[in-house]
Amino acid sequence: MLVSGSTDRNGSLGFGLSMPVRTGTGPLTPSPSRRWCAGKSRPGWMLGRGRRRRSAVWAAGILRSCRRWSGFAADTTLQAARARVGDRWAQLPADPVGPLRLLAVLPAAKFAGWLSRVLRRGSGDSLPGVVGDYLLPQLGGILARQLTRGVIIVTGTNGKTTTTKLLGEMLTLRGEEVVSNRSGSNMKQGIVSSLIAAAGVRGALRGSPTIGLFEVDEATVPLVVEAIGATDIVVTNLFRDQLDRFGEVDAIATTVGKAIHRTNARVYLNADDPTVASLSRFVAPERLVYFGLESPADGVAALKTAVDSAHCPRCDATLRFSRTFYSHLGHYQCPRGDFARPGTTVAVSGIERADAAGSVFTVQTTGHCYRAEMSLGGVYNIYNALAAVTVARGVGVPIRTALRSLEAAKSAFGRVEEVDWDGRLLQLILVKNPAGFTQVLDTFLRSRTGTNILIAVNDLEADGRDVSWLWDVPFECLAGRRHNIIAAGTRAGDVAVRLHYAEVESTIIESVPEALEELHRRTGPGEQGYLLTTYTAMLSARRRLGQAVAMSSIGSVNR
Ligand SMILES: [Zn+2]
Repeated sequence: MLVSGSTDRNGSLGFGLSMPVRTGTGPLTPSPSRRWCAGKSRPGWMLGRGRRRRSAVWAAGILRSCRRWSGFAADTTLQAARARVGDRWAQLPADPVGPLRLLAVLPAAKFAGWLSRVLRRGSGDSLPGVVGDYLLPQLGGILARQLTRGVIIVTGTNGKTTTTKLLGEMLTLRGEEVVSNRSGSNMKQGIVSSLIAAAGVRGALRGSPTIGLFEVDEATVPLVVEAIGATDIVVTNLFRDQLDRFGEVDAIATTVGKAIHRTNARVYLNADDPTVASLSRFVAPERLVYFGLESPADGVAALKTAVDSAHCPRCDATLRFSRTFYSHLGHYQCPRGDFARPGTTVAVSGIERADAAGSVFTVQTTGHCYRAEMSLGGVYNIYNALAAVTVARGVGVPIRTALRSLEAAKSAFGRVEEVDWDGRLLQLILVKNPAGFTQVLDTFLRSRTGTNILIAVNDLEADGRDVSWLWDVPFECLAGRRHNIIAAGTRAGDVAVRLHYAEVESTIIESVPEALEELHRRTGPGEQGYLLTTYTAMLSARRRLGQAVAMSSIGSVNR
């Protein structure tokens, strides 16, 4: 075991344990823990090398003693871990752990979280889960079993956070008590942490919550399903995200599919995404629910992105699309006739409006139509809303209640935010892949002229090292619109070259804080500016903004 300094995925600095025994459990996926324990830079707050090593040895010793004391064999070899996981796949950990052990583990895990917050070594969002899971691997399952109405998992490349938030509000309006990973820490450790936070020291969940609702990173689905189980799983979409991190879309689909196969969960799939729809092969038909857009793309003149996955999952032939709504989402069928878009149970049958100001659309299910209105714009948010409505309906929320809750919805934290900086209204938008970026261009910038825009792209591990996806974003739509664009971040040059090929001029300012000042200078009072950034660039932008405006409105950001 080693203890490593790291920048955790919420961007706050933290320390964590990396244990070989926990890293190799997913069958073919890269180790998820690599993402939060890879110490890529040595932040200034860290102790000197000698003191750091001594602290690490000290902390490791305490944890080893705790673990020995709580009576666990230190089966730390990868093979042993794999064998153990193999046995436990089919069900939740069965071992009813003595209350004494819980009494030891829960306070230790909570204390770790408290300590990390007090010492400002992170937000404490995932450390309790790391410690709790290490001391007692069944902990997540023991806590989750108290959720009488089950555990809902929301996964997919884009829209997880928004879908989870919308669904959470629908469930709350229905009167359910929900445990959720609201911090957006969507790896296994973050999810176990949110359960630990909801539990008292004796292990009983406080306030008798009835339902668990967790946003789960695609690559982590097998680990989460193994740890806490699931009664409902929704897959929003699968896009090309960060190739170096996840591998190809098909590989990640297989990972998610195999995990789903090992549960008895009801599964909600986006019928318009061929890769997602093909997950049906892992699920018994009676447990499947499809949602999708039935509407002609009226009023939604979607931009085209380079398509991620448009081949038949059965025979690999190129799929034929009769319409596309965004990226590779649409109505398709295989020319050889062995695969086609499935029929939907819940659908959007008409879109009146889907722009930056909001959307108005019709939801159709079991022969009834309902008008829906929300302040979130863009077709991608209609998909998020549809996914949330479909799951809500699946777990017994009346559709009218679900739609009423939509009307009150605000943008999910960390996706699109507005910041007032000396009278300049800055919109902060996280971009991370071509499909999402295209939707942002479509919703916010395509119809404007002369706007001040800052595009910041970093290539640190948390952003994805490979930035070739920039070439799949249709920046051509910005040509001739006289936008003032600043290219920033460690890959500012790549952004500028890409824009140049789209016949859009830009200024390169590599440093994100300096670029932000330039954006401020260019944007007059009362004017609007846009910040489109990757994950770590968003963190530096927030730090700079935090010095200028009250940060209370700017919380953590998640991917
Ligand atoms: Zn085919």
